[in-house]
Amino acid sequence: MSQIITVQIKILPTKEQASVLERMSKTYIQAINTLVFEMITEKKSTMKSSKDIHVPLPSAVKNQAIIDAKSVFKKARKNKYKSVPVLKKPVCVWNNQSYSFNYTHISIPIMVHGKASKTPIRALVVDKDHRNLELLKHKLGTLRITKKGNKWIAQISITIPTTPKIGTKVMGVDLGLKVPAVAVTDDEKVRFFGNGRKNKYKRRKFRSERKKLGKRKKLNAIKRSRDREQRWMQDQDHKISRSIVNFAKENKITVIRLEQLANIRQTTRTSRKNEKNLHTWSFYRLSQFIEYKANLEGIKVEYVNPAYTSQTCPKCSENNKAQDRKYKCKCGFEKHRDIIGAMNIRYAPVLDGKSHSA
Ligand SMILES: [Zn+2]
Repeated sequence: MSQIITVQIKILPTKEQASVLERMSKTYIQAINTLVFEMITEKKSTMKSSKDIHVPLPSAVKNQAIIDAKSVFKKARKNKYKSVPVLKKPVCVWNNQSYSFNYTHISIPIMVHGKASKTPIRALVVDKDHRNLELLKHKLGTLRITKKGNKWIAQISITIPTTPKIGTKVMGVDLGLKVPAVAVTDDEKVRFFGNGRKNKYKRRKFRSERKKLGKRKKLNAIKRSRDREQRWMQDQDHKISRSIVNFAKENKITVIRLEQLANIRQTTRTSRKNEKNLHTWSFYRLSQFIEYKANLEGIKVEYVNPAYTSQTCPKCSENNKAQDRKYKCKCGFEKHRDIIGAMNIRYAPVLDGKSHSA
């Protein structure tokens, strides 16, 4: 078993390097689009090699463009040419043999005076929790360089071998707003994660900050505030997923079960219109973080059907609505209402494969 993940690193090209990268990225996607167009016209995959492609790119990069074009074509053929994909976002890709990385520089062949020459570009491994430094010790895969806003980003794909844990010890995890996450193990250990009320308060503050800025028509500041809120939410998701996986490790869990959720779940109570956005959170992202952190530990993640999970009695399967904080059933079962979901998720029917809808 292995897990492929992407590490993002900020790079600081000089002005000259940046303009070369910009040109190369445009050439790269043009080369792909041309190849894809040819293949779609002929309805067959290309036989071309880097020698047949006459664009100013190093041959390793041309080869990568051929690989990318073939996979775009393959997808188009699969959906019977219903849509002809055209790449727009400039990007340039190097395979793992054509570049090297030493934590301070990425050395890549770039075009200088019409010739490919290996050039070191400064790299910044900004890393709060040493995650990137840890990951970059593994075997490095393809390198993509692209521009986000006016920053240059290198994305390195990394394959990490994982050893699946033996045995079956299940933990159910229920994600929500009031309680961001609840975990219950199959031997009834319970843990709550995050603080829903604090999150709501924090987001209300972001919101009122933007409202004030809106009155003063500070559009850039509003965008910055929105970005800051997004980063903060992502950070919360990183922290919660980390603690969930640590809790699973402590309890020797081999399988974590999550509900298969739509990207954004909306709660029913959105009465105060201006607070509507306080009731949305990307459970999809949090699930993804849990999944990849768990997989790195050899813990499997399975998705279950979300129907009725917080209303069904874990003991007799009767449906009940919880009164107040307690969930009570005629059969005598009684528990805190917030843990019922996670209890049921443990044994709910698992959905096929990895069909985690976005
Ligand atoms: Zn019952």
